[in-house]
Amino acid sequence: MRLSRYFLPVLKENPAEAQIVSHRYMLRAGMIKQQAAGIYSWLPLGYRVLKRIEQIVHEEQVRAGHIPLLMPTLQPADLWRESGRYDDYGQEMLRIRDRHERDMLYGPTNEEMITDIFRAHVGSYKDLPLTLYHIQWKFRDEVRPRFGVMRGREFLMKDGYNFDVDRDSALHAYNRHMVSYLRSYERMGLTAIPMRAASGPIGGDNTHEFLVLASTGESEVFYDDRVTALKLGSRDIDYDDRDGVAKVCEEFTTLYARTDETHDAAVFDGVPEAHRKVGRGIEVGQIFYFGTKYSESMGATVVTNDGSRVPVEMGSHGIGVSRLLGAIIEASHDDKGIIWPEGVTPFHVGIVNLKQGDAEADAACNAIYKLVAALGLEALYDDTEARAGEKFAKMDLIGLPWRITVGPRGLKNGVVELTSRRTGESVELPPEEAVAKIAEIYAAHR
Ligand code: ATP
Ligand code: MG
Repeated sequence: MRLSRYFLPVLKENPAEAQIVSHRYMLRAGMIKQQAAGIYSWLPLGYRVLKRIEQIVHEEQVRAGHIPLLMPTLQPADLWRESGRYDDYGQEMLRIRDRHERDMLYGPTNEEMITDIFRAHVGSYKDLPLTLYHIQWKFRDEVRPRFGVMRGREFLMKDGYNFDVDRDSALHAYNRHMVSYLRSYERMGLTAIPMRAASGPIGGDNTHEFLVLASTGESEVFYDDRVTALKLGSRDIDYDDRDGVAKVCEEFTTLYARTDETHDAAVFDGVPEAHRKVGRGIEVGQIFYFGTKYSESMGATVVTNDGSRVPVEMGSHGIGVSRLLGAIIEASHDDKGIIWPEGVTPFHVGIVNLKQGDAEADAACNAIYKLVAALGLEALYDDTEARAGEKFAKMDLIGLPWRITVGPRGLKNGVVELTSRRTGESVELPPEEAVAKIAEIYAAHR
């Protein structure tokens, strides 16, 4: 993309309404625009990152054997009357009446609707296990929408639902979700720690939240800091191997890590003092096993192999897709702007032309731009007439992890400059080598 033809409305001043760094940088980098409290338009740069995050979530869900579909944002109230949640949900639910006076609502979550789909089409244990998920906008009329996309009213969520014949297979589904979530967050350059959680209105006895450590997080967290060093890395996961998947979960949930809701001071005291940490965290996902709560009330049953009919075992599993943008920025920025991890960056590399209009510099930039595209990567080429300092400041603010700087002086020696946004370090390389280096870096992130 050429910057001169793009839509990147960056702000010079710090917006007064933004209290935390991620909200401030998302506004300044022209990623979002607030349309009403907690409701945002996703401008092109923000939209790109949102799509990248969505893509990672999709890929890891499909890898775990889960099946994508798409349910609507608007739901009939009657489904929620069946489960009893229409009255329980309270003011967070946006209730709407259509022209025929039918009660509708903008879905805050989809347990009822997915159970309705299931009961209409599945009736035998032979069709199980089954896990369906979607990535769809939700609405919760939060009392205090704040911190930009972190606590929105309209927000994008991945929510998945497993259907299993018995508790053991449902727990395997729970474990598959835990591992696929860990993998998703890692690909986004994040450390998100599974912490034992309290179940809340969805109900259930097995639940973990995934928290990204950040001083601006809304949850207080208590943990053994050795948990932050755990990594899945590139290990192969066989999602059909129950014991293997359970082992990975055990590895990630044995060290103490809890939110204030489940914190137990006596147990925490058993953690060696040097590793005992109290901090704050951002909830970027949650998994629940809740058994037959919805299947019983809504009559979603299956015939088992001995011919009896039982309510199906279920769980639900969410990732805060839009909140993740904020969480990633909270975890990865400096005083000049955002530093995108390679896995989610809106463009793979920025190209800065120090002397726009200089025939040689322009030709070199064009060649690099084409070379990047030929390798299946995307560059944002600042081909504007702005001063070098202004171009650098803009690139630093929007946070592309790599920048190639092209100027007449370097070109005389046959080199351009390749700079890491994270470390600030630069190397001089011939243009083709700089591009090859970038291709190599991203190959490791595919
Ligand atoms: P919170 O405790 O932050 O209100 P929640 O526990 O009510 O969240 P879940 O029902 O677990 O939320 O939803 C799954 C995920 O959706 C959460 O882990 C979070 O990442 C995201 N999410 C929930 N509410 C919001 C919101 N208002 N804005 C943005 N993302 C949200
Ligand atoms: Mg939650």
